Amino acid sequence: MLSTMQDVPLTVGRILAHGSTIHGRSTVTTWDGQKAVPRSFAEVGARAAQLAHALRDELGVTGDQRVATLMWNNTEHQEAYLAIPSMGAVLHTLNLRLPPQQLAFIINHAADHTILVNSSLLPLLAPLLPQLRPTLRHIVLVGDAGDAAAAQLDGFAGTVHHYEELIADRPTSFPFPMDLDERSAAALCYTSGTTGDPKGVAYSHRSMYLHCMQVVSAESFAFTDADLILPVVPMFHVNAWGIPYAAFMVGASLLMPDRYLQPQPLATMITAERPTFSAAVPTIWTGLLGELDANPGRYDVSTLRRVVIGGSACPPSLMKAFEERHGITLIHAWGMTETSPLGSVSLPPGGLSAEEAWPYRLTQGRFPASVQVRVIGPDGTPMPHDGSSAGEIEVRGPWIAAAYYGGAGNPPELGEKFSPDGWLRTGDVGTVSEDGYLTLTDRSKDVIKSGGEWISSVELENELMAHPDVLEAAVVAVPDERWGERPLATVVLRPGAQAGFAELRAFLAGRIAHWQLPERWSVVESVPKTSVGKFDKKVIRREYAEGALDVTVLGKDTTA
Ligand code: ADP
Repeated sequence: MLSTMQDVPLTVGRILAHGSTIHGRSTVTTWDGQKAVPRSFAEVGARAAQLAHALRDELGVTGDQRVATLMWNNTEHQEAYLAIPSMGAVLHTLNLRLPPQQLAFIINHAADHTILVNSSLLPLLAPLLPQLRPTLRHIVLVGDAGDAAAAQLDGFAGTVHHYEELIADRPTSFPFPMDLDERSAAALCYTSGTTGDPKGVAYSHRSMYLHCMQVVSAESFAFTDADLILPVVPMFHVNAWGIPYAAFMVGASLLMPDRYLQPQPLATMITAERPTFSAAVPTIWTGLLGELDANPGRYDVSTLRRVVIGGSACPPSLMKAFEERHGITLIHAWGMTETSPLGSVSLPPGGLSAEEAWPYRLTQGRFPASVQVRVIGPDGTPMPHDGSSAGEIEVRGPWIAAAYYGGAGNPPELGEKFSPDGWLRTGDVGTVSEDGYLTLTDRSKDVIKSGGEWISSVELENELMAHPDVLEAAVVAVPDERWGERPLATVVLRPGAQAGFAELRAFLAGRIAHWQLPERWSVVESVPKTSVGKFDKKVIRREYAEGALDVTVLGKDTTA
């Protein structure tokens, strides 16, 4: 029998309506390098309505046309986040760190109708114009754009607008449709495409709404209207992990860092504005920790109640350092573009002492009720959840992608990422414990297979980064005549550090199995990073293959 319950579509418009009224006094604040400029949720809601009017009435956006943003984390971006999906159009966030070819590819693939661009990012967009399809009709400049800046768009065949002029004097309410099909696309985000062309994931209103409820919940980030959230994770990186919507759902205020993402301005902003929560990839927190440690007493970051770290494995040494030296709890979370992104969160089971909780906190965490997980072994069959049987992690759930966006007018693309029985193959390798905790050892394309055994590059990196002289360490597989593959350790040393390779190797020797010890070592100035700040191991492998790395070989006999 059918239920007797109301069938109310779960839409972004509902989040906008709720946040801008019930939580109208909460604020979105953008840091301008010196001070914070706040705007209330009520004003943001009013301006989102004005933007929707401008897009529909002036720019002619209709139906599910794509409206893109090439923007930093700031208040205007939040307005676009709310207005575009709420009016029924599709928000396409452009990753400003993508290589130019890929940026042009995704704008064309999505057939973006309009792009909102921060003026400071025009030098990224302007050179792409000759490659862009005529489906792009409008460019809206956000923020101060001098004549010289705007002149960069001189060759654009469409129309150029200025955000504030465009929305000024328009009605501050908009008839946002509340009966949108909740399964229709609300936002489009492309993977950062470390291999091949980026792939588009089209989130639905329903998937975003449900994801948002999970983000705010106590088993994830536990947001309330007493929070001031600092999303350092960019709004072009998987919707800033859902934080902009989650904040509007519960009335948590937002502190937007705009382009001030370097350690020193971040530490200054945190000291001045006193956020309670933040989220970013490990690279950012490593940088911030260095700044705090180098300047004792200059900053006060103690208001940060919790900090979520995700996108790459969090080195335990980083977690420990923040906790012991700065009293900040780092929470490890796992996800990917295809999972909206929240998958698992490493909150320990209740009732444990700090010491008992620690091993749980180092894992990638537990999945919420809505997300199922299975571990698929090398022979394609499911492995037990026993904490030791490793395999590829597959997930399923209402905010997990079932296919990639095929481009305007094309059917969705299925591919090997999606299993015939409806699971997402994450490409991550790891184990799940009996009580549901995920531990990742590698991405499938990064595993090191030495003499038929897997070596976890993540484990080696974590152990290396626990050495006081090591700032960052990335370990990759390199071909080896005898063993098939062996690990190559590339390390970034702290300024003034003395440790040599022999010492680092001896340090590892006490912590990992003997046969896993790398023989090949290289000191690098920095680890190459992807567009979202993760270690780019593909580049390290290529540099090694081309002989571009200065490699020292130690203890070769130990591999025998
Ligand atoms: P891309 O695939 O282009 O790097 P995503 O942001 O979608 O972009 O990356 C998702 C991947 O990031 C995951 O499949 C996983 O390999 C890695 N990842 C995310 N969170 C974690 C984490 N907490 N620990 C280890 N790896 C992580």
